[in-house]
Amino acid sequence: MMISHRWWTRVMAGLAAATILHGAAISSSCRAEGWADVRVAGPFVVRADFPMASLEPLLSELAQLQTDLGRAVGLRAPSEPIELYLFQSEQTYRAYLGRHYPKMPYRRALFIKGDGPGRVLVHRNPEFAVDIRHECTHALLHSTLPVVPLWLDEGLAEYFELSPRNRASNNPYLKSVVWAVRFSMVSKIEDLEQETDFSKLSRNDYRDSWAWVHFMLHGPAEARHELIQFLADLQANSPPGTLSSRLARRLPNLRSRMAEHFKTWKR
Ligand SMILES: [Zn+2]
Repeated sequence: MMISHRWWTRVMAGLAAATILHGAAISSSCRAEGWADVRVAGPFVVRADFPMASLEPLLSELAQLQTDLGRAVGLRAPSEPIELYLFQSEQTYRAYLGRHYPKMPYRRALFIKGDGPGRVLVHRNPEFAVDIRHECTHALLHSTLPVVPLWLDEGLAEYFELSPRNRASNNPYLKSVVWAVRFSMVSKIEDLEQETDFSKLSRNDYRDSWAWVHFMLHGPAEARHELIQFLADLQANSPPGTLSSRLARRLPNLRSRMAEHFKTWKR
């Protein structure tokens, strides 16, 4: 069984951490860390404390992630590189966190965004690739959007955390969502929009955010169009309103269209 861990994986660093990590302090500390391998994968500059030859397929897929997000939701390419740090073990990851983020509560994987480039930190574990894709999706979203509604941020990260061939039809949430929509047990977007603290998101909040993203990407064309327009408005700093109200205007019977989508989705 897959244990969803995402509700505790992400931390937006406060200004203090960003200040400590900014500028020259970063590059000198990186050299001092003695990274074993450095690669560039699309917008990501990847440093690891182990040789990355065996990760080449994953890294080329990662280079594609930004293109996938661009095609799916019209997201623009980031204007600055995103730093990805990979650790061979939980031990070396914890040691690094202890040196650089001693006050930060422990998380299995981290996305940190202050006012400099986004940084993603992940250590090898059975869900290594999932963790990388999930946190790097957050990093790509936050590199071009000034703000992202929490539920949508997580819903997109949950969607893109799987490899491209598994995203649409092999997400572990699918079975549970197909069941839940029959009993109207998937949260309304209006309710998900009320969540502003990621540490309070429940597993069902993650699942339901994923479900709405799946509906928008693979359901009626109007829904996907509205999502693309909503993100474009965010990107342009134009007041976007709420996605729930925009979707309701385009699809007045939104809940039943969503239920219909999962009833008929090929599995
Ligand atoms: Zn997340």
